[in-house]
Amino acid sequence: MRRSRDVPTLVSRARAGDPRAVARLISLVENRDPALPEVAAALAPYTGTAQVIGLTGSPGVGKSTLTSALITHLRQQGEEVAVLAVDPSSPFTGGAILGDRVRMQDHATDPGVFIRSMATRGHLGGLSLATPEAVRLLDAVGRHLVLVETVGVGQVEVEVAGKADTTVVVVNPGWGDSVQANKAGLMEIADVFVINKADRRGAEETARDLVQMLDLSELGHEAWRPPILSTVATDGTGVVELWDAVLAHRAYAESSGQLAERRSFRLREELREIVALRLGWRAREICSGERWDQLTDEVVARSTDPWTAADEMLAPVDA
Ligand code: GDP
Repeated sequence: MRRSRDVPTLVSRARAGDPRAVARLISLVENRDPALPEVAAALAPYTGTAQVIGLTGSPGVGKSTLTSALITHLRQQGEEVAVLAVDPSSPFTGGAILGDRVRMQDHATDPGVFIRSMATRGHLGGLSLATPEAVRLLDAVGRHLVLVETVGVGQVEVEVAGKADTTVVVVNPGWGDSVQANKAGLMEIADVFVINKADRRGAEETARDLVQMLDLSELGHEAWRPPILSTVATDGTGVVELWDAVLAHRAYAESSGQLAERRSFRLREELREIVALRLGWRAREICSGERWDQLTDEVVARSTDPWTAADEMLAPVDA
């Protein structure tokens, strides 16, 4: 966005329900546009009501099929819903990933459903910052129910998914035997476990494995024990029960104070990341110009060491 005076127009169009304006605002978040602080300030008064549900699990486990089935259920309940499909590794944005996510295309023409893929293409700050910002944006434009689907189970995905109000971890029959999955990380963030593809063999064994893992894990201090559900996303079996489990967790989180705690933790993290991001920008400004060239020459010539040179570069910041 070139002119910052576009921001109020864009915000009011988005708040009036224009999905293109919403998509545009999310692009600003993705691209770390300089107009972002203005956007954040304009939207701030309208935020605070979103319910954020994270879905995570290995590729192919059935997340997007399950998300689509959940959307169908939610739409039948008259709910409006937004989906953010978050992919930390993909160099593509928007349409490119969505093109693959055929299942969700069933809802593409429904104005009550907003679906968007997000990638950050290596931008500073990354998805751990872009995701909460996008969620807040959706909240401010009236999309109060946000499903955040993370593509994969690497550290970043687990972090992103774990920042939801309720995190659903999706596995398949046989998960207990799989070696690659970041099991400990997933056990830690799961509020609800789903064994999808329960039409395949081994769902009961996997449920038993999960019970055992939960027994062994040190989550006992929490009053909430993640329920283990089975679904067949392709025909919708178990989806109503899954949503009921999400609502039950939500009720628990609200009454126990967990929700308030998670939200405050999330905001602190976000604030920290914004500060770090800005310091990064500042660092790039500082590391250029005459004094920079001179100091790097000195370091190269070994007349000074890099730490001493850094002290000198940072002197104006520390002052
Ligand atoms: P994602 O990568 O986790 O989003 O997985 P997808 O939703 O794209 O699903 C991967 C494949 O598994 C697709 O071919 C789906 O049709 C299939 N699939 C999803 N859910 C089920 C299920 O419950 N049972 C069976 N048999 N196949 C499923």
